Amino acid sequence: MSFELPKLPYAYNALEPNIDARTMEIHHSKHHQGYTNNLNNAIAGTEMEGKSIEEICKSLDLSDAVRNNGGGFFNHNLFWASMSPNGGGNPVGKIADAINDNYGSYENFKVEFSKAAATRFGSGWAWLCVENGRLNICSTANQDNPLMQGECGGTPVLCLDVWEHAYYLNYQNRRPDYISAFFNVIDWVEVNNRYTAAL
Ligand code: MN
Repeated sequence: MSFELPKLPYAYNALEPNIDARTMEIHHSKHHQGYTNNLNNAIAGTEMEGKSIEEICKSLDLSDAVRNNGGGFFNHNLFWASMSPNGGGNPVGKIADAINDNYGSYENFKVEFSKAAATRFGSGWAWLCVENGRLNICSTANQDNPLMQGECGGTPVLCLDVWEHAYYLNYQNRRPDYISAFFNVIDWVEVNNRYTAAL
């Protein structure tokens, strides 16, 4: 058994103008495919083979190859499924109440999440997690994620890729513009489903 690149649930151009088709195509068919292939190569013939990607990420003593490519595989799966051409707008369901309880308002949540994404130096990710029943915003370097040992913990329900490969073709150095466009495509129905499952 090996991991397979998931098909995108929408066309490469479906998130335009927020995320352009060329970026989506290269990001999915080259970068995510690369992490998938390299993960399969790194675990072939080891005790990791046959484990779920969540089990792999939670393992202690990950090799650099498994950590980087296992994270790359898991993180992009969650990222693609966090967005929709019908996304954006206000959060829905129980997570809407939780955001208001934890951050005061959706507007303030956006400020906090944007800060985590904008201040991650170099390459990495911003996360919204459920930890001990509470929402938690954090960020990780490289392809690390909250399932791994590190400062960021909990069950991730939303993530944003802030590697330059995620935005540079369209936004160049303007990471804040890319972050602000991301809110226009968040699939809050999906994120709310993850949130209720994580509680
Ligand atoms: Mn990426």
